[in-house]
Amino acid sequence: MSTVMELTDVQQDILGTIRDFVDKDVLPNVMKYERADEFPGPLVETMKELGLFGTTIPEEYGGLGLDLTTYALIVKELSRGWISLSGVVNTHFIASFMIKTFGTQEQKDRLLPKMATGEVRCAFSMTEPHAGTDVQSIRTRAVRDGDDYVINGQKMWVTNGLRAGIVMLLAVTDPTAEPRHRGMTTFIIEKDPDVDEQPGLTIPPKLKKLGYKGVESTELVFENYRTPAHSILGGEEGVGFKQFMAGVELGRVNVAARGLGIAQSALDNSLRYAQERETFGKPIANHQLIQAKLAMMATKLRAAELLTIDAARRKDTGERADLEAGMAKLFATEVAEENALEAMRIHGGYGYSQEYPIERLYRDAPVLLIGEGSNEIQQLVIARRLLELHKI
Ligand SMILES: Cc1cc2nc3c(=O)[nH]c(=O)nc-3n(C[C@H](O)[C@H](O)[C@H](O)COP(=O)(O)OP(=O)(O)OC[C@H]3O[C@@H](n4cnc5c(N)ncnc54)[C@H](O)[C@@H]3O)c2cc1C
Repeated sequence: MSTVMELTDVQQDILGTIRDFVDKDVLPNVMKYERADEFPGPLVETMKELGLFGTTIPEEYGGLGLDLTTYALIVKELSRGWISLSGVVNTHFIASFMIKTFGTQEQKDRLLPKMATGEVRCAFSMTEPHAGTDVQSIRTRAVRDGDDYVINGQKMWVTNGLRAGIVMLLAVTDPTAEPRHRGMTTFIIEKDPDVDEQPGLTIPPKLKKLGYKGVESTELVFENYRTPAHSILGGEEGVGFKQFMAGVELGRVNVAARGLGIAQSALDNSLRYAQERETFGKPIANHQLIQAKLAMMATKLRAAELLTIDAARRKDTGERADLEAGMAKLFATEVAEENALEAMRIHGGYGYSQEYPIERLYRDAPVLLIGEGSNEIQQLVIARRLLELHKI
């Protein structure tokens, strides 16, 4: 871990533990899981033992009660090993934040303790086949019927959709609301994990993806699915869109941190390989054009880390941080993509081969450009805030 910030003793301890886990358990096994597109069950069990599912859940509910900055550092470290591991915790982390921040006392008391241990893992679902960026055009409907709501609709790209025991679901409760987001509500769907057919809910086979293997992304098909009225997050209808957007904003810092992990891995591998591989009688690290690549990779990584830590710290103080989180997400994920490609060039033909981790980094990076608000949208968020701040 480069030292863009001074770490506390707690941060050093926990990051040391995660670094050991990544070096000893993840890196030697990642290729096996990745090639088979297999869920890394044993690694996830260790992550539970390390308390990673409760990182930001308050201690009173059995979590570690750590701040977002520490969480971002952990996510970077996990992603240095494999971004799919951070994918397993990411949606859980957003769901924990939503329940902790907006949940009723009953929801917090009942759900957070089992989420903190990882006994129950969570997914986060707003996207639909026809609506990703344009969240306000979702169509999944929830209609009150006695003590229940009846849900109909189709969700898309639900990371951890099959194995999750809880899905934070955004649905339309009032289709006549203007603006449309006022008619949207968050439901805490408590479903059976690992079951693809349950009353009112079908989970088709996982979606096939370029990278980000091992962690499943699924559709969820709701057909007259019944959920109790008390499963509404915070008990309030019509505020779901805001709750989800708060979750996404937090998720941006987390995605930035995942970008750092990929960018770091690309740099680490390149530094090593450039000193081992020889051409024209000397290590390629002695060729100035390769040195220029290493210099730019490291410089961009450091800049991305500074942006990410800045955004995380700002969020930790409770200040508005949409500008900073947007910049961190935009820059760090573009750096991930660029460093992965530069690492491939440095590795030459071996970078393209499945013998080395570079082609995996190259396939894993692009999802970060798309998720938690695409990088096009980040630019809109940044510009909107700048114009607000500098209005003439
Ligand atoms: C592997 C994976 C995992 C995912 N996991 C989850 C999950 O767990 N939960 C969940 O809810 N969603 C998840 N998603 C969905 C993800 O959030 C969406 O794919 C993303 O929001 C983009 O939506 P879209 O794919 O529908 O693209 P679209 O919204 O159709 O966008 C297409 C293109 O148009 C651009 N664009 C759209 N609007 C504008 C605009 N106003 N100005 C400029 N450009 C614009 C976009 O940037 C993009 O380049 C996941 C996606 C992937 C690929």
